[in-house]
Amino acid sequence: MTPPRRELLDVGDAAAEATADEVAATHVGPRPLDPVATPAEEGDETNLRPRTLADFTGQPDLVEHLSIVLEAARRRGAPPDHLLFAGPPGLGKTTLAGIVAQEMGVGLRVTSGPVLARAGDLASTLTDLQEGDVLFIDEIHRLARTVEEVLYPAMEEGQLDVMLGKGPTARSLRLDLPRFTLVGATTRTGLVAGPLRDRFGFVGRLELYDPADLERIVTRSAGLLGIAITQGGAAEIARRSRGTPRIANRLLRRVRDVAEVRAHGEITQQVATEGLELFGVDELGLDKLDRAILEVLAVRFDGNPVGLTTLAHAVGEETETVEEAYEPYLIRQGLLHRTPRGRVATDRAFAHLGIVRGDGRLL
Ligand code: ADP
Repeated sequence: MTPPRRELLDVGDAAAEATADEVAATHVGPRPLDPVATPAEEGDETNLRPRTLADFTGQPDLVEHLSIVLEAARRRGAPPDHLLFAGPPGLGKTTLAGIVAQEMGVGLRVTSGPVLARAGDLASTLTDLQEGDVLFIDEIHRLARTVEEVLYPAMEEGQLDVMLGKGPTARSLRLDLPRFTLVGATTRTGLVAGPLRDRFGFVGRLELYDPADLERIVTRSAGLLGIAITQGGAAEIARRSRGTPRIANRLLRRVRDVAEVRAHGEITQQVATEGLELFGVDELGLDKLDRAILEVLAVRFDGNPVGLTTLAHAVGEETETVEEAYEPYLIRQGLLHRTPRGRVATDRAFAHLGIVRGDGRLL
């Protein structure tokens, strides 16, 4: 990605120019607005995860329901029902699984649909659980059917069916499992098989966060990381973080570098604005690919409806990525509509791109 550094360099001198390059050069990493964490970021994230429901910002309806489920379980002295969390990446599903374990005072085992490739993988994970543990399965919609079949009796009756031997002499053995709570996470509820979805006692949907909640999250993270930030700086990062705490935390870390080089370490609104422009994030929190999507809809297809596959091809991305990582935010910003005939750019998208509807002329 070529960051739009023009304005920064205009106001700077030769030294500032070298500095801007230095800052950009240290960030060859993931795209700043990717809602999915890189393996290198996972350690950083662990330190920023809230550990209790009280410390978890936003999602008020979900937090209220969940606190009732947990309190009821505590009173019964039994593990809570199995829980399914659904919503775009980076909104706090893994964090909530950790909170459930912490609040119940039990252990947490973390795995994912793709890791549990064979029934045996799940069987050994299940037999390893301690009484009351939380088993977190990320991307649960990607579990193989054969693995799901092992999961059903485990969820319902706490039983594991094991096959011993092969062929005519094979015998099946039932094992009693410790009581546990399965916490599933999915970015796509539609892909979780009906029979699996029905076995969860609670389904919580996470929504994109509003800027006020994200501002609180940025301020909290800055405190934990020892970063000086003004309210305006936090608000600016929050506004451009596409409703996603993971992105807010990443932008905070990146802008910190700009602040150290440019502003004695303090993130003010101006430093945040400069830094985010440097990393190619515009004032609505859009990056090059978001703008490319809107341009395809507005210019190449003249504002007419475009199918998802065509749109994804046109911008050189997977359909899944466009649908899960880009569209929810563009829709929420009122820049893109999903219609039965395809995706369309809204008037607001035309205005944001500075394009006149119909003839593709620049305003
Ligand atoms: P998901 O599992 O949905 O992809 P995570 O739970 O891994 O998302 O959250 C990503 C990052 O965002 C974590 O570092 C976490 O600290 C932060 N985060 C998510 N939700 C919140 C929240 N409500 N309050 C504070 N930080 C949050």
